Amino acid sequence: MIEKVFEKPLIYKIYVPLPDNPLKNLNCYVLKTENKSLIIDTGFNRPECLEALKEGLKEADIDINKSKLFLTHMHSDHTGLTKSIMPDGSDIYMSQIDYDRLSTSIDGKFWPVMEDIFEKNGFPKEDILTSRDINPARIFAPKEKFNAHTLNDGDKLNIGEYTLTAILTPGHTPGHMCLYIESEKIIFTGDHVLFDITPNITSWNNVSDSLGNYIESLKKVRELKVEKAFPAHRLSSKDYYERIDELLEHHEKRIAECLNIIKENPESSAYLIASKMKWSMRGKDWREFPIQQKWFAVGETLSHIDYLINKNKVEKIEKYNKVYYKAI
Ligand SMILES: [Zn+2]
Repeated sequence: MIEKVFEKPLIYKIYVPLPDNPLKNLNCYVLKTENKSLIIDTGFNRPECLEALKEGLKEADIDINKSKLFLTHMHSDHTGLTKSIMPDGSDIYMSQIDYDRLSTSIDGKFWPVMEDIFEKNGFPKEDILTSRDINPARIFAPKEKFNAHTLNDGDKLNIGEYTLTAILTPGHTPGHMCLYIESEKIIFTGDHVLFDITPNITSWNNVSDSLGNYIESLKKVRELKVEKAFPAHRLSSKDYYERIDELLEHHEKRIAECLNIIKENPESSAYLIASKMKWSMRGKDWREFPIQQKWFAVGETLSHIDYLINKNKVEKIEKYNKVYYKAI
């Protein structure tokens, strides 16, 4: 299913379904010019996504041999089908930071590190083991490495008469990038700015404050002149600037909520703190949350705790190979 979402430049949106996933779908965008096209993001490495993507590219009459691919970030619902749709030797673009992390992940070196962090933070070992087989980020990830032109903040891409600027927006992932067409005031926001869901911000190894980075990255893209924003999931139903302000406000409230819980429960694990935060899970109790949702919740809670540690409001206590937090 495709939709023409912009006339000049000609931009199509291919609806790539993400079955059984709360995100519902991935918006794959295609910027089409006379001689070159740019595809942005792919969908999970699973047959339902591949079929929809291939069908969409055909409907939009895209010649894959005259196409480049830009990946906004390393997540599997964005990169999963890279090898399946792009012929060997084609031009694939991605931030240096996420490319390196994705390669580490394909080598099998990423998830053990995250599992260790989650276990130290109180996530039950048996649930960690179960999550290996059900986490879509793991089971639908690209299986093979691919070559890419790696990008740094401000690097340019030319597609037909259009120049696109890659804007580094760390937060959702450490090397997330938005793509901005300054002359047209158009931005492809990836998962940095989503309109009817809140982008997931989690804790990453070797990143001291991903939420702080995310907040800075929101302020960075708020400075741009934007008339049309294209998010990677769901709809772009609201004003771009209004939405950024809402996201900033949302995190301010969550940071305060997290700090209050830590004050009320000194020396608690991130798992316990997460169980006391408010989540939009249709009235379900923490114990009824699916393991996958608990995983997201603990990751998000950790990013808020990291933020508070960086602001010297919370300190970390390590005891018997476990980690606890208390307010300063
Ligand atoms: Zn993502």
